[in-house]
Amino acid sequence: MTTSPYESLVHAISDASLIGASASILSWDQETMMPEQGVELRSRQMAQLARLSHEALTKPAIGHLLSSSESSAEVKECPRRAASVREMRRDYERSSKLPARLVEQLARVASTAQHEWAIARKNSDFKHFLPHLNQLVELNREQADCLGIPEGGERWDALADGYEPGCRAAHVEQVFLPLRVRLQKLLDEVRGSKVSPSDRFNQTKFALEGQRSLMRFAAESLGFDFARGRLDESSHPFCGGSHCRDVRMTTRYKESCVNDALGSTIHESGHGMYEQGLPFQHFGTPLGQAVSLGIHESQSRLWENQVGRSESFWRWIAPNLASHLGNVADGFSSAELYGAANLVEAGFIRVESDEATYNMHIMVRFELERALIGGSLDPKDLPEVWNAKYKEYLGLTVPEDRVGCLQDVHWSMGAFGYFPTYTLGTLYAAQFFEAARKAIPGLDEGFAKGEFKPLLVWLNENIHVHGRQFLSGELCERVTGSPLSAEPFMRHLEGKIRPLYQLV
Ligand code: ZN
Repeated sequence: MTTSPYESLVHAISDASLIGASASILSWDQETMMPEQGVELRSRQMAQLARLSHEALTKPAIGHLLSSSESSAEVKECPRRAASVREMRRDYERSSKLPARLVEQLARVASTAQHEWAIARKNSDFKHFLPHLNQLVELNREQADCLGIPEGGERWDALADGYEPGCRAAHVEQVFLPLRVRLQKLLDEVRGSKVSPSDRFNQTKFALEGQRSLMRFAAESLGFDFARGRLDESSHPFCGGSHCRDVRMTTRYKESCVNDALGSTIHESGHGMYEQGLPFQHFGTPLGQAVSLGIHESQSRLWENQVGRSESFWRWIAPNLASHLGNVADGFSSAELYGAANLVEAGFIRVESDEATYNMHIMVRFELERALIGGSLDPKDLPEVWNAKYKEYLGLTVPEDRVGCLQDVHWSMGAFGYFPTYTLGTLYAAQFFEAARKAIPGLDEGFAKGEFKPLLVWLNENIHVHGRQFLSGELCERVTGSPLSAEPFMRHLEGKIRPLYQLV
């Protein structure tokens, strides 16, 4: 039996993807397990794998297979295969525009920079990180020029397109500006309220051992499959791994606030369950991959906020707390716990922020990275401008860079154009959840009984199983019947915050 061009193409792409999958395990290892002195050789390993992966994915044979697949009847007549080839073509064109030298250099610099960023963050020493940031901004500007600036667009767009296909700064700005005005108004009302939920739970210390046991219990109960994944610790929570049967997620712990670890764990479980829901038989090819980072984030935010910060979730978990955290946890009613999980308070740290202020953190980062890549902001001035924005948007005076511009890992990884996907994901999450509620009777009541499976199955069937068959906008319309809008998110937020703070 002869192999068709499409079959050969799928085989070649899947095979080439093994290199990236191996690199992602090494990258997970670097953040969780690797001894400190491993970094020098690890940077070389990462650079070599990035080069090999790039070589394998851009070799001329793949270009030929793409062309012959595109004209074949088996692709033209099957929407799923056609979508797969469309996405492989997109990846191929994008990668082919980047010289191998640049790919390798970016990987090497990013691996070192990440290590140095962790040191800089620990010591709150921006100057220590600055030379690396300079290099990363320069290399990313070069990368954007190689990829090509879309017509009528800007450098930042070329980078963002790698995370969220078709994403443009001008469009993001159009979504963000009115959203900021509405959030600002709500935050002002919250600040003016005389009522506030109790913070007692967030102020209670719980031993880390108990917290670890609770996190595993929560992730497993929501539906994360530990036979196909792990939960470890890192300074910045993330979800990685090599494929849907080997998902590596991390969280982080603070003795003084169990909700920090819980929020991060549920968030990463959302990412992890998306990865586990992708079809294994399509490993390494678009039909086995996530649509975009915005859609990925919709899954993590949905579990974190629509589920993990819901009243019914707390009714379920409240009686389960003491067996992990000790008897002190029995002193809190589910209503008090629900309030504590939904306190609105402007803080410095994005990953610890509440739903009302979260997007403000993203807006700051979007504006700053757009300026860094566009060239209007010199990296050396980053702390000053960062702090000014925090004052303006959140009314906060940043005391040190550790809780300011050094808090996130993204730029140290060389990821510019990534941040807005968090807010886009937050908006998608609310819209998807409204659709799930319509489709699944008694969804919220089920959470109170620990029934999370109907939601996971719905997400599996409506979102995960398609891989990249549909682009994010198309997927949103298919699943919810409408294009992306901020309305479901504002309904969700106002519906929760107004009663808690007794706002009219
Ligand atoms: Zn996330």
